[in-house]
Parts: sequence; C-alpha cells; structure tokens
Amino acid sequence: NSSNLQGYAPICLGLEDFYIRRLYLRIQDCFGRPIASAPDAWIDVVERYSNDYNKTLKRTTNVSRCLNLGSYNYLGFAAADEYCTPRVIESLKRFSPSTCSARADGGTTSLHEELEVCVANFVGKPAALVFGMGYATNSAILPVLIGKGGLIISDSLNHNSIVNGARGSGATVRVFQHNTPSHLDKVLREQIADGQPRSHRPWKKIIVVVEGIYSMEGEICKLPEIVAICKKYKAYVYLDEAHSIGAVGKTGRGVCELLGVDTADVDIMMGTFTKSFGSCGGYIAGSKELIKYLKYTCPAHLYATSISPPSAQQIISSIKVILGEDGSSRGAQKLARIRENSNFFRSELQKMGFEVLGDDDSPVMPIMLYNPAKIPAFSRECLKQNVAVVTVAFPATPLLLARARICISASHTKDDLLEALEVISRVGDLIGIKYFPAEAQKQ
Ligand code: PMP
Repeated sequence: NSSNLQGYAPICLGLEDFYIRRLYLRIQDCFGRPIASAPDAWIDVVERYSNDYNKTLKRTTNVSRCLNLGSYNYLGFAAADEYCTPRVIESLKRFSPSTCSARADGGTTSLHEELEVCVANFVGKPAALVFGMGYATNSAILPVLIGKGGLIISDSLNHNSIVNGARGSGATVRVFQHNTPSHLDKVLREQIADGQPRSHRPWKKIIVVVEGIYSMEGEICKLPEIVAICKKYKAYVYLDEAHSIGAVGKTGRGVCELLGVDTADVDIMMGTFTKSFGSCGGYIAGSKELIKYLKYTCPAHLYATSISPPSAQQIISSIKVILGEDGSSRGAQKLARIRENSNFFRSELQKMGFEVLGDDDSPVMPIMLYNPAKIPAFSRECLKQNVAVVTVAFPATPLLLARARICISASHTKDDLLEALEVISRVGDLIGIKYFPAEAQKQ
C-alpha cells in the first residue's frame, strides 16, 4: 500500500543496487549513525546528514536522545553500575587497558584466571577458557575441535561466526532445518545407522551446533529434544549461548537452566560477554580435558592478545551481581525485570496486530516488515520520534523476510516500554505492517 509509505515505496531494487542503497539508507537510520553514549535504555545518536549518494558526510556535533531498542544490553550492565564500574576503573589503573601479550606469553593476569573459574562455575561446567572476541571464539574453536573426516551438523540459521568456523574446519557440513529436532534426527539417521558404535561409523566425530536463543528469530532452542537425539546417535552438542547466557533462566544461567537440561549433556558450551555482561570477549566451557587440550592447541589462545583486564573485571563483577554475591538483590531484580519486560512487550506488540517472531521469555523480538521498502521507512519514522531500532535485511535474512529486531533490556522502565509501544504502533499504522489486526485475529 504505497499511500501508507509516504514516498519510501515502491523501490524496485536489483540485488547489487540493493546492497549499495542499503548502505546509503543506513546512514540515515539511527544505527548508521555514531552513538555518543553508553548503549543503555536511552542513547545519544549523533545527527549526521548525507549530502549526496557518494557518501559525502557532513558531521555535526548535535545529538538526539533516543529510546534504545537495539542493544544487546539485556541486563543493563552496559551502563555505569554501582558495583561493577568502580572495580573496572580500579582494574584499569592496576592492569592497564591491554595485556599487550597473548595468553601463553605473559598475557595471563590473575584476573584472567579468576574469570575462567568464575565463568566455569556460572555456566555449570568443570572448566572454561576465555577469548578476546566472541566471533573469533566460534570461528577459531570449531577448526580445533573437528577437521577432515568429521561431520558438523549445523542449525540452518546459526550465526555467521559458526558458519565460518564450520567452513574453516575442513569437516563435512550438513544443515538441519532451523530448530527442528525431527529434521536433525533425519539428517543424523542418513549419516549413520542408528545405534552404531562410534568406532564403526563413517565419521571420526560428529558435532551438532545450535544456539540458545537465535538472534534474528528470537526463538529459544529446543534443547531437550536436540540433546536426546544427540545422545541417541552419540554426537557431541555444541551450544552457543551468546544471547541466552545471563538473559534467561532463574539465576541467569541460560537455556539449560530455563529448560531443565543437565549441563553435563552439553559437551561444549560457548558464549559471549558482549550482551548480558556488558563487556567484551567469549568463552568455551567444558570438561577439564577439553579445556586443557584447547589451551595447548588453539591458535586463538596461543597467538591472540588476551581479553583486556578491565573487560575481564566487568564480567567477574557482573556475574557477582547476577548471583547476589555483591550483597544485594539487584541481580535477581534484573532477571525478573528482563523477563517481565520481554513478555509484556511481546504480548502488547501482538495485541496491536504485528507479526512478532520468537518465544516467551526471549528478549529478542523481531517484527516482520517483509517488503524491503519498509526497512528504511520503519527505522526512519521511529527515529523521527526518538526511538532507535535495528532493522535487519538481506543478506542477514532472506530477501523478502526483512524485519525490525527489537531487543528488550532490564534497564527499560515501564514508561520507556509504553512510549516505545506508542511510537511503534503509530509507525506500524503509517507504513502498513500490522499484518494481524485485532479483527483478523478474531476470525
Ligand atoms: N554468536 C552469536 C549467536 C552471535 O549472535 C554473535 C554476535 N552477536 C556472536 C556469536 C559473536 O559475538 P561477539 O559480537 O561478542 O563477537
């Protein structure tokens, strides 16, 4: 309905054109602009104007204060925190911003060792190893765990860092339909006869890779079913908890806690510190033997500069707050808040008639836009009303499945959420994306 789109549509784009124009359009979106504050519930977005198609930018120092619905700051630790921030500042003074060394060559501080014990205990595994980047944790670890002669079975919507790690490993890669245990069962059955012992199989090793919460879908992994299938076929389970660790589960321990899965049944637990903990880096947690093996063989551990000490301190301190070890109940309150906020926001969006993906309890909620022309329309109209949203499109999603990806935080107040809902509802009417209005739901 182009009359609703107020000049944004119809844009009929060829694919190459689509890439170029998307870059151009993003400049006018909130997240194509620099942010001049912490990624908390409200952010300062620098106003920047694009003068021409050739990216001649005129930067101004003006900022707009926007309600932030785009950051992965699930528990609100990305902002200054009464417990974490003084300790991070202290660690900065004591250890400096960087170790300037790889872990094996003087880059291991006492903080790194404390962090690994803290992470292992938190996720419920005997040992852990931390890395300076979440992306590199997946892409560097998978090639160490498996190689030629091995089989990786990957969820079709796994993150790009997993896809790259799987490709780089040299193992055979098979994909199963997103979060569909019956299809995983079928793919495994095709690869090995049911019940065959490991020593008689055509594969040296099989690893099934899934995510705890899918960041483009907001869906929670069907982990209990997947773990049962992996047990049946004696395949290893690799779980990426980038978006679920800290964010879900009674004490923030992720999808195993949320869904009642024994962490002993998940062989390799991976996660990042860039979301719930408001820091940087990633981890692998598993058996003592696995972690020892990785310490001696993983190039990203041996040759990359270790995670920065203030980042390490931020993770340790935020985990302490989550567990109540700071002596307050703020952690429990944050966990209750993110759950409440997420479930409230999702159900309100649905009542308004939006098509919202994902599961209850998930703080990630994509609103389907479908038509590529509605991508800039949605984000720019929201920005005009001081709400910052992230829109996701091809190649991160299929071409016609564009969406706005809303991330809810424990730091959003009820008033923030009500304000955001009002704006999104107005923009939804304007650009025609309420695909399930109340009348249609009654039929
Ligand atoms: N895994 C998943 C599932 C992710 O969504 C991301 C990034 N958001 C990463 C890994 C990479 O983590 P990082 O951004 O911390 O490098």
